[in-house]
Amino acid sequence: MTDAAHRVEHSPPLSIEAALALLLERARPLTERETVATADARNRVLAEDLSSRVDQPAWNSSAMDGYAVRTADVAPGGAELPITQRIPAGRCGGPLAPGTAARIFTGAPVPDGADTVVVQEICESDGQRVRLPGDLKPGANIRLRGEDVRAGDTVLAAGTRLAPQHLGLAASVGAEELAVLRRLRVAIFASGDELVMPGEPLNPGQIYNSNRFMYRALLDVLGCEISDLGIVEDSLGATVEALRAGAEQADLVLASGGVSVGEEDHVRPAVQRLGSLDLWRIAMRPGRPLAFGHIGDTPFIGSPGNPVSLFVTFCLFARPFILRMQGITGDLAPIRLRARADFDLAKPVSRREYLRARLTQTAQGDATVEVFPSRSSAALTSLAWADGLVEVAKGQTVAVGDPVLFIPFSELIP
Ligand code: AMP
Ligand code: MG
Repeated sequence: MTDAAHRVEHSPPLSIEAALALLLERARPLTERETVATADARNRVLAEDLSSRVDQPAWNSSAMDGYAVRTADVAPGGAELPITQRIPAGRCGGPLAPGTAARIFTGAPVPDGADTVVVQEICESDGQRVRLPGDLKPGANIRLRGEDVRAGDTVLAAGTRLAPQHLGLAASVGAEELAVLRRLRVAIFASGDELVMPGEPLNPGQIYNSNRFMYRALLDVLGCEISDLGIVEDSLGATVEALRAGAEQADLVLASGGVSVGEEDHVRPAVQRLGSLDLWRIAMRPGRPLAFGHIGDTPFIGSPGNPVSLFVTFCLFARPFILRMQGITGDLAPIRLRARADFDLAKPVSRREYLRARLTQTAQGDATVEVFPSRSSAALTSLAWADGLVEVAKGQTVAVGDPVLFIPFSELIP
């Protein structure tokens, strides 16, 4: 064992929080921006605050189909008024003459003079006149000008990841284009002489490169551009070459496998040859070793090759690092839901453990959590079965009915 490997093996393990803090300290957000059509901006990150060009609503607007009147014209017992105008959405009526009603539809401007809209269901009309009930409330069924947004208001903050509802809001205030940060480019490779691609023959001792497919899909969800460097053989030379190529092409390099300190693990010496590296032993299961370094200015994160470890370390470390690089601000921690365990863990866990879990509901509506029988970090079946992870603290045991913390995958892979 080399000195460095020996140091890593014998240094105290790092907590997840400490490792994440170190990572996020070093994540430098992209600054280059581009303009994209609002229609194409889903999943991009807004580069500057978006302010509204308009009041929203732009005028006092009817919230219902009905009749616009003056409350003062309607006695407590009701009134019958002549209908003097008809205002569908998209038209503007004239001022409402005292003692008259305007037929009005949802979204149409309330005419000057009217101070309430009476819903059609409680009125009677022959088209010429309308019979209205009494006891009308001024302001009822009217959305006031600027009630939702005033011209000049910031409606979306820089650093917002644009979801469908944000695009709707941007369009509603007249933005046809949006200033967004350019996409983050991430290079990936998978280390391992045992790896072959699905579609190729599987010889004894070989396995399919499943991590590539998870990496690609996870990065795709996060809106990254991917440089896929494929499978890299377990040699120092090939690993150095892959890292060099990745750092040249991308803003971030991710690799699976080869990060331990065994003879067949070349990631550590390769990164050290090209730049700087920290190899962390993280107090977690699955996924203990995590490599973090730089090749020139390009950060590198190396995860263990076991697929479950790769997935969990991606979610806990690579994902928040990527979000920061993408310009996303604020708290990045996923929400943890408290639910009742529907499983036992009699033996205290030796380090914080993430079990593959499913949220279910009792007939009474209480949330309970089941876990997959196998805790193996190689068992992709456990991940595919699960819809989230249960976080079990170091030293903790669990009995049926105990409260546990559940992180839904929807928090991690939205
Ligand atoms: P390593 O981190 O390289 O020591 O690999 C740990 C385990 O994960 C070994 O059983 C590998 O065969 C497996 N593994 C490594 N890379 C991949 C990959 N890309 N896809 C699936 N399994 C992998
Ligand atoms: Mg390996």
